[in-house]
Amino acid sequence: MNAATDKKAVRRKEGAENIKRQAGGTASPCPYYKRCGSCRYLHLSYEKQLAAKRDRVKQLMEGHCRVRPIIGMEEPWHYRHKVQAVFGLDQKKNPVSGVYEEKSHRLVPVEHCLIEEKTADAVIATIRSLLKSFRIKVYDEDTGYGLFRYVLIRKGRYTGEMMVVLVTASPVFPSRRNFVEALRRAHPEITTIVQNINDRSDSLILGEKYQILYGKGYIVDELCGCRFKISPSSFYQVNPVQAGKLYEKALELAGLTGKETVVDAYCGTGTIGILAAGRAGFVYGVESNAEAVRDAVGNAKANGVRNIRFYRDDAGHFLESCAADGVKVDVVLMDPPRAGCSGAFLEAVARIAPRKIVYVSCDPETLARDVSVLEQKGYRAKEVWPVDMFPWTGGIEAVTLLQRGH
Ligand code: SAH
Repeated sequence: MNAATDKKAVRRKEGAENIKRQAGGTASPCPYYKRCGSCRYLHLSYEKQLAAKRDRVKQLMEGHCRVRPIIGMEEPWHYRHKVQAVFGLDQKKNPVSGVYEEKSHRLVPVEHCLIEEKTADAVIATIRSLLKSFRIKVYDEDTGYGLFRYVLIRKGRYTGEMMVVLVTASPVFPSRRNFVEALRRAHPEITTIVQNINDRSDSLILGEKYQILYGKGYIVDELCGCRFKISPSSFYQVNPVQAGKLYEKALELAGLTGKETVVDAYCGTGTIGILAAGRAGFVYGVESNAEAVRDAVGNAKANGVRNIRFYRDDAGHFLESCAADGVKVDVVLMDPPRAGCSGAFLEAVARIAPRKIVYVSCDPETLARDVSVLEQKGYRAKEVWPVDMFPWTGGIEAVTLLQRGH
């Protein structure tokens, strides 16, 4: 290297260092960082990221209660146990897979992702090469021509069971048997393979029709000592390590003694309620999605839990009927979607007047809004624990304890 290029290299390095300093962290270790857009905290160290997330919760919740330390991950990489990939073609017409660029439909090819489970990435790489050797046409969004659209992989963190969902535009899948056999040979850890047919033009990955190509069509995972069935489309936390910590914290805050009547509102496949049932008198679970309710009933049965009953209903409407019927509820555990709760739900909670409310939230803004409403109705927020469920991404989860009275 001559003196001039040497100087240039030094200047470049200084420039990079400046950017790092301004960002308060290190340069990104991910080559897709900018275009993918998912991991917006990747320029920070993990400690700084945790501090930034806790600060956000603090900004919104400090006026309500004590903000506890954020519960982070020991190993904040490759935690996603639900992985999905969009398939397309590169300029040489070779199959590629990855994610859509933020707010667009341009495909960013991704070979290794820092937050996805590693074996899932390897299976996706094998599928790319099998598509080429089996000459299966990748679907073209613009022309609607071609077959292969997406892959969805779900893996049980504790059981190791692995489900691969191959999403195609039509049910006709040439040399399907040989394809499945080749995939299983390359990855004996796969326990089930499902074909899903999606002929829609929106951006949802799964269509309504399924066909099991191998195995039982679902996987089972274990969380906090209970077993849960995971179907291709059921809701299950993508980060099982942190989900375990989140649920444990929620139950600890609920402080159950074995006697209480508990409502698990927005219960999904019944995870929190089933875990609570072992420490409560009776649990009612309520959930609006029929498939999730079916899974919840099966999950309770598979775990030998008898003191729980699930209802398919709007959570607000269900609580209103509890209030109207004079059902006495001691603790409400709630885990609503990002939008938070409806006014009717909060109104009904106040009417049945549980002693404690444990609010699990994936959006601190709607959490703060709903906590304000509950405060006006005679509840007091005691403490909030931020939990890092989605390291490097913008997602922030938090669990809050509220008690009746002052
Ligand atoms: N507690 C579960 C699921 C939380 S996700 C777990 O930890 O796995 C939020 C759930 O709320 C979803 O399953 C969604 O279907 C459900 N949901 C959304 N709106 C609802 C409503 N108005 N009433 C009841 N359930 C609702």
